[in-house]
Amino acid sequence: MKNNLSNTKSDNIKKIDWKSVQNEMKMKFGTDIYDSWLKKIDLVDELNNYVLISVSTRFIRDWITSRYLDQILKIIKSFKKDISRIEFIISDNNNAKNIEVIEDKTLVNNEKVSFIKDSYLQYNRIDPNKNFENFLLGKSNKLAFEAAKKVSEQIAYYNPFYVYGGVGMGKTHLLNAIGLSLKDKNKVMFLSAERFMYQFVKSIKSNDMVKFKEYFRNTDIFLIDDIQFMNGKEAMQEEFFHTFNVLLEKGSQVIVSADRPPNKLTRIQERIKSRFSGGLVVDIQNSDYDLRYKIVKSKNDDLKMHDPNNIKINEEVIKFISTEVNASIRELVGAFNRIVSFSRIYGKTPSMSEVKVILKDLLCLTENKVDIDNIQTIVCKYFKISKNEMLSPRRSRYLVRPRQTAIYLSKMLTSKSLPEIGRYFANRDHTTVIHSVKTIEKLKKVDNELNLSIDSLKNKILYKQENEI
Ligand code: ADP
Ligand code: MG
Repeated sequence: MKNNLSNTKSDNIKKIDWKSVQNEMKMKFGTDIYDSWLKKIDLVDELNNYVLISVSTRFIRDWITSRYLDQILKIIKSFKKDISRIEFIISDNNNAKNIEVIEDKTLVNNEKVSFIKDSYLQYNRIDPNKNFENFLLGKSNKLAFEAAKKVSEQIAYYNPFYVYGGVGMGKTHLLNAIGLSLKDKNKVMFLSAERFMYQFVKSIKSNDMVKFKEYFRNTDIFLIDDIQFMNGKEAMQEEFFHTFNVLLEKGSQVIVSADRPPNKLTRIQERIKSRFSGGLVVDIQNSDYDLRYKIVKSKNDDLKMHDPNNIKINEEVIKFISTEVNASIRELVGAFNRIVSFSRIYGKTPSMSEVKVILKDLLCLTENKVDIDNIQTIVCKYFKISKNEMLSPRRSRYLVRPRQTAIYLSKMLTSKSLPEIGRYFANRDHTTVIHSVKTIEKLKKVDNELNLSIDSLKNKILYKQENEI
């Protein structure tokens, strides 16, 4: 059914055949994974360079995002190469209702545009879960937050209001919060620059420019997200510029977000940039540890309150991800969600080394130089022997096992040949190396303590230890 929706679009760009994408996913991931996670994904819409898909819960969205999204994107790209990202809609009943309610309200306030309901308002999505109350504050975002609050309390005080910052810093959250707080009393329009361009092109094709103009100029609060993607032709920039001016002149509030300051925008007319700079420009900077910790903590508190199964995430883990996952708040939230998903699926609290595995792609833990010298140092320290002792010919029991362990780990963790490894161990013969590797392999099968030691050693050898808790 959803497929039909996208097929009815009037433009003539080749459409993605969702059935084929599904088949590919089934082949790639196997039927188990496909049936558990991917089968129910629906293609809702397809835009110039992204697709909108729906899943039934946040949990599934997060799970898919963390495990399969890159590969799904690859599959979709193989059908249409221009697609560069995937966006989700949560279609579970509660959320769907929330979204509809908001749209309906806009509609009631805005009778003139009811006839274009389907094409426009569908994308005027305000998420009730991204509000001012749950936007946590730190040094990096306090200014932007305060300005946003001011904007929502006193319309057109700062006009336009331009907020910028890197990916996943909270810009959309903040814009959404402004929209949410004003939508009851005002006509609010919240859309991405991409969506604006898409509608523009569509309106030209279907000779609907009058409606387009009327629609966008007839709003009190105009929030436009990710303006850096605005890269249309002159005619569109012209239209945007005029819309923008009309809105400012009639005292409507214009709010713009971007990943860079106005003067760094490319492909946007100078006069538009200069109007952006004419209002209030604030940035959201990289978060610091305190803010990240606050965010993870609050997610964890929510979880404690709402999760009937009472999953526990250790304080160490919370501190660890707040330290390590520092590229963006989006990644941080994603990391936390992954850990929660893991706990739900396996019914346990993940340990530090499990967390490292779950978040491997987000962490920069593999920085350690793995060489034999290092391995020897770490193994010696672990077994409390000196390097001289390890390399000596002595065969006391308390030296033999650490030596064999170090040889074994050298074989496992480096690409050195047996004779080369022998050379690092005071010129031992390669047969000694083989013997050591075999001995440890045999012992590992029966000696649980040794297994634990080896795991722990591997962890120390492969990952930076500063943050080991
Ligand atoms: P951007 O638009 O800058 O790329 P988003 O607004 O989409 O980033 O934020 C990414 C994620 O991080 C969202 O889930 C958002 O709710 C969350 N987030 C960002 N900043 C904060 C904050 N200060 N407090 C709570 N959550 C935040
Ligand atoms: Mg955003």
